Amino acid sequence: MTPFANKILNWYQQYGRKHLPWQQQKTAYKVWLSEIMLQQTQVATVIPYFERFITQFPDVDSLANAHIDEVLHLWTGLGYYARARNLHKTAHIIANQYHGEFPLEITELNALPGIGRSTAAAILSSVFKQPHAILDGNVKRVLARCNAIAGWPGKKSVENQLWSVATEHTPQQNVDDYNQAMMDMGAMVCTRSKPKCSLCPVAEHCIALKQQAQTDYPTKKPRKEKPTKETWLVILHYQGEVWLEQRPAVGIWGGLHCFPEQPSADIAPFLQQYQCSETEIRQGKTLISFKHTFSHYHLHITPVLINLTQRPSLIMEQSQGLWYNLSQPQKLGLAAPVKNLLANLKYDLT
Ligand code: SF4
Repeated sequence: MTPFANKILNWYQQYGRKHLPWQQQKTAYKVWLSEIMLQQTQVATVIPYFERFITQFPDVDSLANAHIDEVLHLWTGLGYYARARNLHKTAHIIANQYHGEFPLEITELNALPGIGRSTAAAILSSVFKQPHAILDGNVKRVLARCNAIAGWPGKKSVENQLWSVATEHTPQQNVDDYNQAMMDMGAMVCTRSKPKCSLCPVAEHCIALKQQAQTDYPTKKPRKEKPTKETWLVILHYQGEVWLEQRPAVGIWGGLHCFPEQPSADIAPFLQQYQCSETEIRQGKTLISFKHTFSHYHLHITPVLINLTQRPSLIMEQSQGLWYNLSQPQKLGLAAPVKNLLANLKYDLT
């Protein structure tokens, strides 16, 4: 075992996290679910989502048998919905092709939708004690600083260097504790903006500390100015219900329910397309615009509320949508801006 790994393991005994919900009666299913939820999301945010999810879908078979709408409903607010769709797909594959058991070969596990090398390694090391290195965002930060590895970790050559150091230090024994310790170190001590170097168990190995350049590592992603796009969401309201449509499985908010989208402020063509006659419109008003940010662009959203005197007949025949009851909401996956608009709509309804 390297001296680095030894210090990390000793630190873990005293300070590591051992009471997270997915660490209790550990299973591959729980660790997999937590790993997917923790991608791009903090532990404190994930815990309530994890607990609701595990109550509703306690094992891989119950998740495989669920309708995707139920899965997306429980994911609403966590973002990056491709994670939920991949989770559902992978549950299907494990239930049907692997008789409900996770494959124990890393290359097979790594080949399943949404499971990358680090996630596969985390499952196999944490539950089955296979000595695989992991490399999530926290581990990358600790290793980049300790070894002064410059360059953005999204670049293949930099990632390869990090994998090489991660593999060198990953011990054959106690790999479950070691990998958890590395994640905890990154989350609790070697934090992004103000690392607590005086509390760090591997400070004497840390080149970034010697250089007094801790926050220079890892190199940040090269900044690109995000473009801003614009859209209008049309909220058709009739007697306490609003019209929502399910979006195609691919693209933004894939598979989630959303208000119909319009490319301009002129909603006359929309009303024509939905065969809303003037007599069916009691009142129309533009609500306050807001910005929603995706990883690649900002979306400037203007909601337009249309209060109807009756339901347009065309809409009633549509199969990809439904009338969403505001007082008795159905369980659906909702895009985050739609969820916020629904929560505030009572103030705008007349
Ligand atoms: S000494 Fe500081 S920068 Fe280096 S690994 Fe420890 S906490 Fe991170």
